[in-house]
Formats: sequence, structure tokens, C-alpha cells
Amino acid sequence: MSALRNIGILAHIDAGKTTLTEQLLSLTGVVRRAGSVDEGTATTDWLVQEQQRGITIGSAAIACRYRDVDITIVDTPGHVDFTIEVERSLRVLDGAVVVLSGPDGVQAQTETVWHQASRRSLPMVGFVNKLDREGFDDERLQAEIRDRLGIEPLPLQVPLEHGDGRLRIVDVLSERELVWEETGRKSGARAGLEGRPDEEGELHRQLALERIVDMATRFDDELAEQILLGATPSTAAFLPGLRRAVEAGECLPLVYGVARTGAGLARLADAIVDLLPGPEAAGAQRMFELETGALGRVSFAPDDERSVAFVFKTEPRRGGQRLAYARVFSGRLERDMRLLRLPGRESYRIGRIVRVMGGSEEPVDWLEAGEIGGLLHRSDEPLPRTGETLAGSDYGWSFERIDAPRPVIAVAIEGEDSEDDAKMRAVLQLATHDDPSLSLQSDRGTGQTLLAGMGELHLELAFERLREEHGVRFRTGPPRARLRRIVRTAAEGVGTDIGEMTGARVEVGIGLSPIARGLGEVVRYQGQPPRRREWREALEAGLIEGLGVGGSDQIVGVEITVTDLVVAGAEPAPVAFRNAALRAVSVAVDGAGAVAAEPWMVLNVVVPDEHVGRVAGDLARRRARIRGSESRGAQQVIAAEAPLAELIGYATALRSLTAGRGVFTMEPAGYEPA
Ligand code: GDP
Ligand code: MG
Repeated sequence: MSALRNIGILAHIDAGKTTLTEQLLSLTGVVRRAGSVDEGTATTDWLVQEQQRGITIGSAAIACRYRDVDITIVDTPGHVDFTIEVERSLRVLDGAVVVLSGPDGVQAQTETVWHQASRRSLPMVGFVNKLDREGFDDERLQAEIRDRLGIEPLPLQVPLEHGDGRLRIVDVLSERELVWEETGRKSGARAGLEGRPDEEGELHRQLALERIVDMATRFDDELAEQILLGATPSTAAFLPGLRRAVEAGECLPLVYGVARTGAGLARLADAIVDLLPGPEAAGAQRMFELETGALGRVSFAPDDERSVAFVFKTEPRRGGQRLAYARVFSGRLERDMRLLRLPGRESYRIGRIVRVMGGSEEPVDWLEAGEIGGLLHRSDEPLPRTGETLAGSDYGWSFERIDAPRPVIAVAIEGEDSEDDAKMRAVLQLATHDDPSLSLQSDRGTGQTLLAGMGELHLELAFERLREEHGVRFRTGPPRARLRRIVRTAAEGVGTDIGEMTGARVEVGIGLSPIARGLGEVVRYQGQPPRRREWREALEAGLIEGLGVGGSDQIVGVEITVTDLVVAGAEPAPVAFRNAALRAVSVAVDGAGAVAAEPWMVLNVVVPDEHVGRVAGDLARRRARIRGSESRGAQQVIAAEAPLAELIGYATALRSLTAGRGVFTMEPAGYEPA
């Protein structure tokens, strides 16, 4: 078994991810006393903005050691404005813990990140949290896991008593009963009385054991045989089968507890070590070949000594430094090593290497294959960019880029004077490098500078950092939904370019078709892409440019298929491909007849029963379509869709409609005619 784990903590906002991370740090001795999100002292919520708001904004990495296994934990934000943080973390994780709030069930954003993670086939275990609160029903939760997450829940424990200051759980495989008292305290429950389960507990244990046996034997013939022969296997004998079931995505093992008081956290740590894979199980990675641009899958052999790493995030650090987070996939990263930043091929020299501990760093000499760490630089030194691959000059592949979601909301911003304006642009430019879902543009109509992002909170935070950390004085306009154009029908177009000097001729034929509810554009080739990388890049740049860049006339939600490609005469320059592609797209767009469109959002609103009427009425005034509602205890969950333009300021409105008790999440659904 490997001695490394790279684990993400995923869930809806407020499920308890950060609290749970903090308790794992306390359990493993990284911190003496667990910090608290409510007091702004959690290790991984180290940004000032996080401490003030009590929420996680950036994903943070931290290392700890449990049962001789080095675990790197990546705590992620649950808020939809920051989905890019989840997406990029998923690229470097080998497994994840999904935190479910027991009393609240499977929440909307949990569902979203779950599906994000399972698209990448990430093995996961579940932690059922907040069992100090009333209103938890294990059967209902399991049914929701089946329905909403589409996976079989597999309890490794049976909760017998919960709520009311006491938690009593039977741990199935160890045949122990675990009891915690005073679980409702703000921290530190009285822990861990262990004994044998009583008769009732034993009955429940047997039932749960049957399900575990069923699952494990499906993936382990040897175990199946032993059991057929009547043997009573030890706990350890179940682990290989369960591990394979988890890796195959066939079940979600569940452990239970109260993150805030640390109850149940040791069993979760056991599950991480016993059931989640280490980096050596990472399958082939999606990469593209530098020479041809062709996508492929690349595996890394454990004895491969070539250094290959992926940079998944950059951020400003204390003391004006900047940090690039990297995961090593092969070989080692060492101090002073010279590598290339791919695909651009800029040369790069590694400076200080650190292990990241939330907001602080510990220097290390190197990072090995499978490890996640940081590359620390002064802000005037070149830093690798998010999505880049670090490798030697003879390496021919680059990791697939991180897809940044398209910003849907924008605010005009202007410095108080020209000095502020210049500083503002410089700071925001760097911020867009760190967070590719932010974008800085200028409005072609008015010439104003626009900062665009994923939601009001997202932009608000960028402004706050600008003001407080950089002392820039500026004014902003009201947030606005970004208008775009969509096409309603498919169309074709051909574009030609003939080189003035060489006479080289490039002809590009394309088909353009709408993608229902698409947010961006997709490019496909019916035949072979251009033979040279520069040609291909120029061609694709031309296609994208043809859709209009960044303005309200930009076309979104389309698929472009390159159907014909003719190169005749001399060797064309790359720009010939760009020009021909640009013309082809313009012709197709004219043929398809584009119309103005506005972003729509999918909305999930959870409100106490007595406020449902007012909230639904308000939604109707916002042009929302109600998709359905269901009751969950004394709460109603309303699923709806509405234009983003009508949802500006919705957080405040919902608060006043529900006396502060309603919560909602939203995410972009696509564009519809305005
Ligand atoms: P995150 O958004 O998923 O990172 O959640 P946090 O860790 O920030 O926790 C959200 C809120 O839930 C905070 O007020 C925590 O104190 C609270 N919380 C976390 N774990 C528990 C728990 O086990 N029981 C109860 N009652 N509250 C908890
Ligand atoms: Mg958090």
C-alpha cells in the first residue's frame, strides 16, 4: 500500500468541509487545538476575506500524517461562484471525501460537485456530519444518495443515537460500539468510549455487515471463497474488495460523526487510508502532444525519472511573494532545476520548494512523483501559470488545460485618478492569472474597463482585495448580466486566403451549429487537423475570433466542425489559416442569423414552509420558471430557472423575504434569446 494520499474535501457550502479539515489536522497533530470557522481561526481559511465571512474562497492545501501515511488535503469552497477551484483541484486529486450534512441531506451544490468529481472517476468516501443536530434520518439520507448521486451508499457504521448531546455508533467491521458525550458543544466532545454493541446494536450490525460482504465479495473472489467455506474474515480481509469497489465507483462508504467536536473523525481518517487510492493508482492522464496538438492518454511508470509536473493554481502569498501549486506526476522537482513551461516552451528555473500549510509554508528540498507542493517566488520573478506543464526540454506532451467557466456577470470599474487606474489594471491582470474565471476587458462601446466573473460575491471579493490589500481607490458601476448572441440554426461557411507574395492558398470549410444551453464554443475536426502545430493554433484562433471576442456581439453556445481543409501551392504562413477561418465563420454566422441572448441561471432555493408563497411570488416577478419543489422536513426546496439580470441582488432580497432563513445556490444554465 502506498504511503501517500491526495484527498479533496467536497460538498455544499456550510456542510462542514473546513471544520472537518481542521479536526483532521488536530487529530494528526498538525495543530495543537482545532481552530474554528466561526471564530475565523481555521487553518485552511487563511485569507482575510475567508475569516471575515466564515467561508472558504480559495482551495487550500495542507499536509498531515496518519498511520504513517502522508495525506495532502485540499479543502475546496462550496460556493458556486468558485467552481473553478473545485475543477482545478480535481485534476490533481486521487480521491475525495464528500461531506454530507446529515440533517440537511444531499444538498444542491453537493450534487453538482459530486457529478463534477464522478466525471473524472474520482474514488470517494462519504462523511455524514452534524449528527449533534436534530432531524437526521439515516434511511432518508441513503435514499437521497441513491437518487441524487446515483451511487449505492455503503454504511461502515450504524448510528444508533444522535442529536441530544450524545452520539452512539456501531462500527461494523471492528465490532465496536463508539459513544461520545456532549456532542453539542462548540468544540471537543468527550470522546470515544468503546465497548461491544448491545443486542439491538448487534442486530443492526449484522444487517449492515451483509451489505458490506455483498459489495466486497463482488470485487474479491478469494474473500467470496473464504466466506462460502464458512470462515469469519478479519476487518483487514474486507479492505481489498472494498477498495476495488470504491475505485470502480460502485459504492460510497459512509462514516458518521460531528465534525465540530471531532467525533468520528478517526474512523474517517482510517477510511481515507484504507479505502482511497494513492497516487500510484492514478490512471492515464489526458494530455496533448505538443507537435501535433492531438489529445491522448499518457501513463507515468513509477520508475520513470523524467520530471513532469502540472501547475493547477497560483496565488499571492504573504510578504509580496507568489506561489504556484504543482502536482508531480513523474520524477522529481528539485531546487534550481531548469525545466520548460509547456506548451509555451518558456524556460523556467525552480526557486524555493515548499509544502503548503494553509497560509504558511515549510521549505523542502524536493517533491517526488505523486506529491503536491508549492513553488515560491518573489513577485518580480517569473512564475508558472495555471494549467502549465513543467517538464524537461525533451518532453513532448502537455496536460490538458483547465477549462475556466465563462464569466456571466460584469461590473464597470475605474480608478479615482490615472495612477490608481494603472495600478488597478496591473493588480486585476494578475488576479485573472490566478483565477481564470475572472476576466478583465474593455467595453467596446463605451471604452470602460469591465471586470467579469461568476457572480456578485466573486466580483465583490476581487474589489475588496484591490481596496484593502493594494490600497487602490476606485469606483464601480452596478453589476450587469453579460449579453451575448446565439444562433438558432446550423449553417455552413467557406473562407479562402491567398498569400500575396507566395500565392499559397488555404481554404477552410466549416459547419456551425447551436449547442443547447451552451456557454462557450467547441471546435471539432471531421478529418485531420492541420499538420503543423502553428497552423492549427492559427486556425483555431481564427475560428474563435470569428465568433467575436468579448463583446456583446460574441456568439456563444456553438459547435464548429472543420469539414474541409485545402492547402495548395507554396507553404502557407500560419496567418493564412487564421484569415481563412475567420472568413468562414463570418459567412456561417451570417447564414445562421444570430440573435441577442442573455445568461440564465439554474436556481435552488431552500425556504421554511411558511415563506414559500412569498418567495415563489417574488420569483415569478423575476421571470423565473419554477421547475418543481419538494419538501424536506419543515423546508421546501424550490428548483427554478431565471435570467441572471433579474437575480442581481437576490441574496439580499431572499434574506428579507424569509427573515434571513432562506438560502439559495445558482449556477449558469446557458444563454437564451433576450
Ligand atoms: P464548509 O462551508 O463546508 O467549509 O463548512 P464550515 O466548516 O465552514 O462549517 C459551516 C458551519 O457549520 C459552521 O458554522 C460550523 O461551525 C458548522 N458545523 C460544522 N460542523 C458541524 C457539526 O458537526 N455540527 C454542527 N451543529 N455544526 C457544524
Ligand atoms: Mg469551507
